[in-house]
Amino acid sequence: MKQEIIERLTRYVKVNTQSDPNSDTCPSTPGQLELANMLAEELKAIGMTEVTVDQNGYVMATLPANTEKEVPTIGFLAHLDTATEFTGENVHPQLIESYDGGDIILNHELSIVLSPADFPELAGYKGHALITTDGTTLLGADNKAGIAEIMTAMAYLIQHPEVKHGEIRVAFTPDEEIGRGPHKFDVDAFRAKYAYTVDGGPLGELEYESFNAAQAKIIFKGKNVHPGTAKGKMVNSIKLAMEFHSQLPAHEAPEHTEGYEGFYHLLSFQGDVEKTTLSYIIRDFDRNAFEARKTKITELAAQFQEKYGKERVEWEINDQYYNMREKIEPVKEIVDIAYEAMENLGIEPKVSPIRGGTDGSQLSYMGLPTPNIFTGGENFHGRYEYISVDNMVKATQVIIEIAKLFEQKA
Ligand SMILES: [Zn+2]
Repeated sequence: MKQEIIERLTRYVKVNTQSDPNSDTCPSTPGQLELANMLAEELKAIGMTEVTVDQNGYVMATLPANTEKEVPTIGFLAHLDTATEFTGENVHPQLIESYDGGDIILNHELSIVLSPADFPELAGYKGHALITTDGTTLLGADNKAGIAEIMTAMAYLIQHPEVKHGEIRVAFTPDEEIGRGPHKFDVDAFRAKYAYTVDGGPLGELEYESFNAAQAKIIFKGKNVHPGTAKGKMVNSIKLAMEFHSQLPAHEAPEHTEGYEGFYHLLSFQGDVEKTTLSYIIRDFDRNAFEARKTKITELAAQFQEKYGKERVEWEINDQYYNMREKIEPVKEIVDIAYEAMENLGIEPKVSPIRGGTDGSQLSYMGLPTPNIFTGGENFHGRYEYISVDNMVKATQVIIEIAKLFEQKA
């Protein structure tokens, strides 16, 4: 299984699938379609049925049930694209057969070193087989490790018909990193009752809570007058914006919050005397607290209108996604099964809220409750990304175990 996983991941990361928020197409980049077609061929080759790739690059496939029992159809999902922050062109994965616990030289020429001094958790992988980058690109284990694990698990189940399971659906989806993953996902065509994204980090991760998320844009309009004769006339929009931001609680910001704490994050501040635009993202796990944050922005903007004139302030707030917990809690048994699967394999489940969103955050609201499980990767989205092959094997076993448990409990 180990060798198969290494070969799959190595093959998948060599296709550049970096997504692009400035593209209007789906998938946003052609590399994703290339990988989608490649995966469709591999799904057919291992013996999956109903293999499809739609015009938007969504790959779906079926592993038919091999049991007489009535088992709900479950799905496993992973995303095709890689992060926008760092290049995914010409990825040269490097395999370390057995990590010795010391510094890993990613690139001699450029003196790029992956060191436990910078990443203390690296020391815990002593003795593991690791796959790293060559220091010039990201690895793309986010989320091609998930694809490799799902593929390997399906191949295993096909080769081991003695392992009983219900119908399993698989999907590989585009553009997760730019928040569009589920936008064109056909939940009805997928026809799974529950699903899991295999898109988490280190061993044992199990997540079913995400932020509620919105973005807000506040535009301040000033009045520019020659500074020599500006007394009583000039309105400087930059100063209005500064005053606005100073009214928000200073400690409710990403750099001061963790765990279940929410925040207002000032993403960008662009302006001159005439016009200044503030862009925020608003995040909170609790739905009421999330609504209260949006109300706070609205009330504050309204106060500024009162103080400086209606024409001086405009604003817009848009919801992005919601905490999937609301949709998963009523079917909590799907989290319990993942938990049990990990325990059966001697893995300690680590349940924690995601301080972000996954495709599952949107899918759960589209009628497909979708928690997230680990892939085994670390340091996603950059040159120091790496993954333990040993833990990829475990993620693969968790997928198989989840399939078994659904059948046993039916
Ligand atoms: Zn991911």
